[in-house]
Amino acid sequence: MTDKIQPGFEVQHDSEHGRIGKLTVVRGGKPLPAMSTPMLYPVVCLMTGVSPRGGGIWKYVLRNLIENDIPSLSQVLHFLDFNLESRHLLYWREKPLRERYREVKLDYKAPLFLDSGGFKLLFNANLDLSSYGIRSDENQAEDIVDLQLDLGGDLVASLDYPLPNNLDRAEAVERMRKSLENAIQAALYLVDKKQTPYFYVCCHGQNRDDMRQYVGNVFQLMRENGLSEYPFGLAIGSIVPLRGTRKYEQIVELILGAKDGIPEENYATTPIHVFGVAGNIIPLLTYLGVDSFDSSSYIQTARGLNYLNPSINRLQPVFEMESIECDCRICRDVDLFEMQQALAENGSYRVLSSGRYKSEFYADIALHNLEMDYKTLNTMTAAIKAGESMEALVQYVESNPEIGGALEWLATKDDALKTRIRRTVFVRERRTAYDPAHDGQLTFLTDEPTVKLSYTPDSFSIPEDYRPPRSKQILLIIPCSAEKPYSRSRTHKILMDRLLSAFGVKVNLIHKVTLSGLYGPVPEEFESEEPVLKYEFRLVPQDYKQTLLCTQRIREYLEKYGQNYDLKIGYATSLAYRTVLEEVSKTNSDFILLPKNPKKRRLSEFFRIPNINELIETLSTVISDK
Ligand SMILES: [Zn+2]
Repeated sequence: MTDKIQPGFEVQHDSEHGRIGKLTVVRGGKPLPAMSTPMLYPVVCLMTGVSPRGGGIWKYVLRNLIENDIPSLSQVLHFLDFNLESRHLLYWREKPLRERYREVKLDYKAPLFLDSGGFKLLFNANLDLSSYGIRSDENQAEDIVDLQLDLGGDLVASLDYPLPNNLDRAEAVERMRKSLENAIQAALYLVDKKQTPYFYVCCHGQNRDDMRQYVGNVFQLMRENGLSEYPFGLAIGSIVPLRGTRKYEQIVELILGAKDGIPEENYATTPIHVFGVAGNIIPLLTYLGVDSFDSSSYIQTARGLNYLNPSINRLQPVFEMESIECDCRICRDVDLFEMQQALAENGSYRVLSSGRYKSEFYADIALHNLEMDYKTLNTMTAAIKAGESMEALVQYVESNPEIGGALEWLATKDDALKTRIRRTVFVRERRTAYDPAHDGQLTFLTDEPTVKLSYTPDSFSIPEDYRPPRSKQILLIIPCSAEKPYSRSRTHKILMDRLLSAFGVKVNLIHKVTLSGLYGPVPEEFESEEPVLKYEFRLVPQDYKQTLLCTQRIREYLEKYGQNYDLKIGYATSLAYRTVLEEVSKTNSDFILLPKNPKKRRLSEFFRIPNINELIETLSTVISDK
């Protein structure tokens, strides 16, 4: 280990409120030009097809990032989102992604951070990836490292098991233990490799204390395993679900906990990365001394055709814009009128009348939105250097009041900040979890745990003596929802509302049976059973075992109760759930799968009016007779 040139991190300018550093990665035995921190990695997908000639928005986004030498982050299991087969993964693994892209004249010189993809396993710890050469036993952490090295990661993160919100305590403790164990195993494995990627240990906790202990344990275990000289950083996970529910205060807690846990002597050489958050939280993170973060929101917002308007600090639908008031490197060359025309044209993969592809315009929006994040980051970096980060943060919050709660809460532990914000009144747009009456205590930390991942397919089954209600003459099977009970979820509500307005009280003739990815059929009478309320599981197309199990259970249901119904319909559009119902319809000729020809196998098709109308039409063949 000592004779190899090692990557490293050093703080160049430290202040109580943010720091400036230098992160150097080593590729092929040679150090690359140092990256200046704090920094932001855009999240990218590189294995989107069977060659680096992939299309869609990624083609144009990648080309731009590569040509501009922008470091990026990718999680190694993202190929699952593009339904690649194992032979395609083998092809990608033949050489580093960088070399693969050179084949199409794209020379990516900037560092590539490869995350483990633990997030993919969040609701699906038993996802079987053995056909991709990733074992699900105690070798999994090492198999992921091999994948990260094959793909040429300059920075890599250990395989972790993120904690969803309000996870049952015992399960959280077990997940933290496994994440920590994986990290040490991966470090020991990496030490003997010829490659020397910069290694990040993924850290998780449900509160500040957890995080402090976790990080303390990381340093202790590294020492005990003879790795005290091994350079590594800390990557804080489990933040993404928190951000989704705007629990900014808890994000702050976790970051403070991680900092508490770093031994004094390691503080200046240990970079802190925060996974999956950027945007309006950048100033807060940098103020707290976070050195890097990553975000995919620039892509997600662009997919929804939302442009981050710098003059109002808000996302704005592209079609509602009257002008572009931005001089970033992207917008300088964008003609808004041409963009709106192009995006309004039909067909996403064909050449438009202008000779360009629609995806190019989506990419422009994404890259502009990303530029806005860089702008925020650069402002904060300059402020840290000038010793004015507190002022910059407060000013930022004045125009972005949604993080005001987090700032006010932070002020309860930061006297200087407290004094400063006394002079400022924030307009609180939305209520946050911070409750001043509780004197800085975070009320949500005492929330009852509502999520358990330990449920198995056998935690719920339809009782042997079950009979569907006599009044129900139509069976309607639809996919489950993340929100529970199912009936209160957006998908179920929208659909049932449409059916109610089409059929009035006769909607009661329909027996709704939900296809749970974990349990198979769940008749509506069982929606409030505890295992149905509290499980958290998403069926993914690669989960063959679970797909088969669901198919069998639906078939059994039809065999047992099919004669109770005059009409049996399945309505599903997302790939994994539709696959189950397709399999069922192959063996049950009187089971009708709708929509007959969805344009895409996506959830968005679920809400499309022609598809819902097709369902209503089919239902009315029976309902109108009544
Ligand atoms: Zn711009």
